[in-house]
Amino acid sequence: MQQKKVAVRSINWNMVRNRLIYIQEGVNTLKKLSRLSDAGLTSNLSDVASRDLLENLGEDATDLVQHYLSEWLSGSFGESVWAHLSGQASEVKIATHSVLNAIRDPAKYVTEKGISLTRWVDNLIQNLDWFTTKLNEVLVNVGTESLSYQGFKVLNPDRLPDTVVKSLLDGIDFLVALFKKRGLKKVLDQNLKSFIFSLRRGDTALARYYPTEQQIQVFLDVLTTKDSRFFEDWVKDAFVHEMGHHIHMFLMPSQARREWDSGWLPVEQAQQARKKLLQEVTTVTAEDRRRYWGLLVKTRGVLSQMGLKGLDRMKAHAWLSRPYYSSGSLVTKSNLKWSPEGLDATLVLRAPAEMAKLHGYDPTDLKEMSFHLDRLKRDLRVLGPEASIDFPVLNRTEVQNYVKEDKQVEEAIEALQIPSEYGKTNVLEDFAETFTAFMHDPSKLSPTARFRIQRAFALSGLYGKEFLRQAKNSS
Ligand SMILES: [Zn+2]
Repeated sequence: MQQKKVAVRSINWNMVRNRLIYIQEGVNTLKKLSRLSDAGLTSNLSDVASRDLLENLGEDATDLVQHYLSEWLSGSFGESVWAHLSGQASEVKIATHSVLNAIRDPAKYVTEKGISLTRWVDNLIQNLDWFTTKLNEVLVNVGTESLSYQGFKVLNPDRLPDTVVKSLLDGIDFLVALFKKRGLKKVLDQNLKSFIFSLRRGDTALARYYPTEQQIQVFLDVLTTKDSRFFEDWVKDAFVHEMGHHIHMFLMPSQARREWDSGWLPVEQAQQARKKLLQEVTTVTAEDRRRYWGLLVKTRGVLSQMGLKGLDRMKAHAWLSRPYYSSGSLVTKSNLKWSPEGLDATLVLRAPAEMAKLHGYDPTDLKEMSFHLDRLKRDLRVLGPEASIDFPVLNRTEVQNYVKEDKQVEEAIEALQIPSEYGKTNVLEDFAETFTAFMHDPSKLSPTARFRIQRAFALSGLYGKEFLRQAKNSS
């Protein structure tokens, strides 16, 4: 899909390096001091600056690994590498606290435990050495920011390591070879300029195509996500799928696209019909309201005795809860609240005399009482304008039962013989998926699907003579 570019919060590598240098300098300082006796160490480490240094070493180590670089580390090298480094960072933090405690409370930390301050400091140095060595080992793998490959510009703003980049570049090789084989090389030559490789940023798409930049963005997850749909892996599926979107939306002349899109008309009609059906079952009609009012009067305002069930019951509740609620989000039992009118109605019906007094009416004045009731009925739209209250879906499962019998939408989609479940999402994904399936193996498409994609390309008259030939040959 072509969409707004996913914001990339790039890592500030200078900052990372500076922090590492700071940690390294801290280690050197500690190493010099460690030659001193316990007394010397105590006097040297007791000042505020030294305490700050110790605190910062622990904070910097954990912050770097557990927050700042966590995505990069786990994305580039896997969870276990990240977990290992993260564990080491925690060890550093614990070791700094031990040293601080030993200085602050030598009686407990040095005397009682029988461990000299020198040894606490040595322990910290050892942990810091481990940590910096391991972190440096992975940081040499910070990748280059951009390169050019097969005539494309490849951007690597997250500086993914070469090993990772290599796997993604293999995907480019594959894409180029495949489009060449299918006679669509020109589509790539004329419509694709660059790739951008990105760490996952909390989004569900594995890849994106940006038409104005003629760029495919691919997320690192593409390498580890299992169960690709057509090709052996997701890199391949994703690249071909994204180019499919581009062909559908930008390269096909309007006539060809209209014809493709028209395949979805029966689906849309069925969806409209379903929407209407849903509206009917979830609408609190004027007649419903009169019926509910009658029951409410009969039960003297006790909802539970109205004898309503299922959706009917939900509707009555919603009517008393939000009588003027017209459209919008899902209303469920849990978010229903009494409306003032609804609450008033049940209270008045339950105890008319008391409520009348409360409102300043004379309960024996029948005219006044009926005036008051009529006002409530108008508020609850039992009297007055006849319009239905177009309620939102009240309860998903309840409503699902009503549409269970309605198979029109599913049948209309089935008729298109779309080669993947995802392709059934909408007309855009249908094209991208059918295209990908065709690129994978034309002979595996159903005759209907093959006809549809073949027709789209024939009407497009764009490139791909070889593409069409293959479509014909495999039918
Ligand atoms: Zn898509």
